[in-house]
Amino acid sequence: MSRAGQGVVLRGVGKRFGDVVAVQSMNLEVRPGELMVLVGPSGCGKSTLLRLIAGLETPTSGEVWIGGRRVDEVEPGARDVAMVFQSYALYPHMTVARNLGFGLRVRGTPAAELERRVAETAGALGLGDLLERKPGQLSGGQRQRVALGRAMVRDPGVFLFDEPLSNLDAELRLRTRDEIAALHRRLGTTMVFVTHDQVEALSLGQRVAVMDRGRLQQVGTPDEVYRRPRNLFVAGFVGSPPINRIGLSRDGSGALAGGPFALAGPSGPDQATLTVRPEDLAVAGPGGTEGDFRATVLRVEALGSEQRVHLDGPGDAAWVARASPALRVAPGARVSVSIAWDRSHLFGPDGRREEGVARPAGQQVPR
Ligand code: ATP
Repeated sequence: MSRAGQGVVLRGVGKRFGDVVAVQSMNLEVRPGELMVLVGPSGCGKSTLLRLIAGLETPTSGEVWIGGRRVDEVEPGARDVAMVFQSYALYPHMTVARNLGFGLRVRGTPAAELERRVAETAGALGLGDLLERKPGQLSGGQRQRVALGRAMVRDPGVFLFDEPLSNLDAELRLRTRDEIAALHRRLGTTMVFVTHDQVEALSLGQRVAVMDRGRLQQVGTPDEVYRRPRNLFVAGFVGSPPINRIGLSRDGSGALAGGPFALAGPSGPDQATLTVRPEDLAVAGPGGTEGDFRATVLRVEALGSEQRVHLDGPGDAAWVARASPALRVAPGARVSVSIAWDRSHLFGPDGRREEGVARPAGQQVPR
């Protein structure tokens, strides 16, 4: 029942609610058949953006295109999109079969075709045995699947998901996430998925659009967004535990200095922020080799497959290192820590990424 997905193009799309600018002149292209995740903190405008694509909101400025057709004046029902919400919004008095068929019925789809599509969708989602049940007789995961089925049965060119997993418990969330990814592989339909959870975004998205305060911050593959964040916001928002950071300023010798560091950074601003991911820090136990800085261990979280070693620096802020479970360190230990400089980042005072590799002054670090 699948057909090729439709591309979605936003050109300078903005949305205001009175004084509140929910979305600021945004350009974004979702390719046909792509699974794009919109992610950002609460209030960043991601739901509004999805509703603008769906036609549930009208843009204050800009153009929305779906499948090569400009749709910002087109009714939601005529946009070839189907939306799946956080609240399942199922009709409680209708059976699963009638819930699934509802959208087709109101469109006057002939009974035979309606039945065929409902059966096909129920089969695809493993709902075949539940067709005569009412929503109250289903588990949360099954209800979510019915909500998904109600969108699928219409065979839309674009699926829009608004935090569809946030009502589910942790295990079900993972399972449903896998099901959506599998469904996407099977149908090949364009999907735009909104979440505030960056782990969910990276695990599900073919590409991820990171938003903050109504603005698009970066669009890229999960790997690009994680490894080459365009700005300090993206660097800090993506990754768990969060990226470590320290402020630097240019000293008399021209080095960017802060805490124990004096970096021969790229020429450029006099103020910068150095960031390093927890896995790009190597902690050597007592007696280990000399690293880039020394720190005292504050706390060790043993998570089975890894340890998180909390350090009292460098500088004033605590840092976290990811270490192998084999490392033997206890709170209070003095350790030396090495930085994988080629994977560190520098951001200028405006938060934008500075190109080039930071390295300790006077030290040659191979790229
Ligand atoms: P969340 O994850 O909390 O749902 P979000 O990123 O989806 O947040 P939006 O719901 O798009 O954010 O809201 C963006 C901004 O627009 C917020 O400041 C919000 O208060 C405001 N907003 C959204 N809808 C309306 C509305 N109908 N009237 C007034 N302000 C609104």
